[in-house]
Amino acid sequence: MADKRVECITKKIASYPDFPKPGIVFKDIFSVLADPPVFKDLMVIFEERIRAICPDVEIIVGLESRGFLLGTPLALALGVPFVPVRKKGKLPGELKQVSYKLEYGTDVFEAQANSVKPGQKVVIVDDLLATGGTMKAACDLVTSLGGAVAVCFVCIELVDLKGREQLTKPCDAIVKF
Ligand code: AMP
Repeated sequence: MADKRVECITKKIASYPDFPKPGIVFKDIFSVLADPPVFKDLMVIFEERIRAICPDVEIIVGLESRGFLLGTPLALALGVPFVPVRKKGKLPGELKQVSYKLEYGTDVFEAQANSVKPGQKVVIVDDLLATGGTMKAACDLVTSLGGAVAVCFVCIELVDLKGREQLTKPCDAIVKF
């Protein structure tokens, strides 16, 4: 049976054609965050699914920047640490990094070297899976820290872009377009 909460979340996600450039349809989760009951449902669904799929999760990793907005309340609800993965140059201290391909050029993700202990079970959270390059880079970075990526979670998956084919870890998406 269809989950009414997912239907409401799907309706709330705003679409902006040709943003930030021609040919891209930007899917905006801020319209969900602006509606407290719908935002709450989204976070409850995330929490339910993580408890079902990975009940022994030890760390939530959130990806800059919208992954922070979903990952921090989730970590709090699950009672586990939140660890940020950020673009190069934003985090202090000893770091691990990974570079990954964008449509034009490359980008670099960083995490603090001691933020994940060897063998810890990690769930990675972001707002959206498109081509999968961002999530793959995050999986590689967490693995290089010694963490065990159990599952990746996104609010939205753009199915036609086949991002999950890039991933060697399972990925769950609440809304699929
Ligand atoms: P990708 O590496 O292609 O899977 O892109 C995923 C990342 O880029 C996520 O962190 C998203 O926030 C962002 N992103 C990519 N495409 C879109 C889109 N159509 N709408 C909103 N965000 C997007």
